[in-house]
Amino acid sequence: MDQSQIDKFKDAAREAHCNMDEKAFDEVLEKVAQSKTHASDCALHNGPALEPGPCDCGATAQQ
Ligand SMILES: [Zn+2]
Repeated sequence: MDQSQIDKFKDAAREAHCNMDEKAFDEVLEKVAQSKTHASDCALHNGPALEPGPCDCGATAQQ
């Protein structure tokens, strides 16, 4: 996901924000941010061929 896709997502999310509670909104944004920062060989990306594992690239641990 590149930066322009993230910006588009944020715009759409902002428009939908009135239908979403604050915590859910933050969680979705966090997932979008994580999808950008995980290494391409992170275990999270093993699916669907393999069972996706817990993060092993360190991106999750950096929070
Ligand atoms: Zn990872």
